[in-house]
Amino acid sequence: MDIDLARAWVRAIAEAIEADKERLTRLDAEIGDGDHGNNMDRGFSAAVQALDTLTPGTAGDVLVKTGTTLISRVGGASGPLYGTVFRTAGKRLAAGDAGVADLAAALGAGLDSVCKLGSAQVGDKTMVDALSPAVDALSTAADSESDLGTATAAAAEAADKGAQSTVPLQARKGRASYLGPRSVGHLDPGAASTALIFRVLANVAAADPDAPRGGA
Ligand code: ADP
Ligand code: MG
Repeated sequence: MDIDLARAWVRAIAEAIEADKERLTRLDAEIGDGDHGNNMDRGFSAAVQALDTLTPGTAGDVLVKTGTTLISRVGGASGPLYGTVFRTAGKRLAAGDAGVADLAAALGAGLDSVCKLGSAQVGDKTMVDALSPAVDALSTAADSESDLGTATAAAAEAADKGAQSTVPLQARKGRASYLGPRSVGHLDPGAASTALIFRVLANVAAADPDAPRGGA
């Protein structure tokens, strides 16, 4: 991941969130307070604006700025939570064109930071349920020396599955946990937005002009 790809990722997240805002808000209305789509939309459009005036030295700078903006501009719990993921990942990301192993390590550090901040673990019915398998998929892809396109496609698949796995769970963290057993049977909105973020990463990686191409 280089500066251009990091920027393209954040821009594409903002577009995808805007397009999917109503679904995210509806999911949050079922087991929360119905603001997740708006929170994410506000945060990522602010991030895109902030990036317009940033001259980043590394892809990590792009992610750090995104995280800082999410923390300062989103009122809901998801702002500081996603903010810490992006900030921590950005600080960890190697300079230059970071490879699959670097990205796996950076997002792994982001995962650890959000688990610590929200004291959540896999199975609590949060964004962690999508983020953790996505990071695992990236690490596995790094071990088998996959290219970024293949690795991010696997991560997107894993994040989707992880998000779906929240449906039968009872929430143990966040607002949804106030509902107790009534949170069962609903997709967690934060896990759904994490799945979207990884789907978008796979799309921008596939469209990256610097990516290696198979065939002739
Ligand atoms: P709020 O809950 O403040 O209204 P949002 O609706 O924007 O904020 O975000 C809700 C999402 O945040 C949840 O669906 C869940 O994925 C995530 N979340 C909430 N609390 C935690 C936590 N302690 N750890 C990890 N993720 C959490
Ligand atoms: Mg909410």
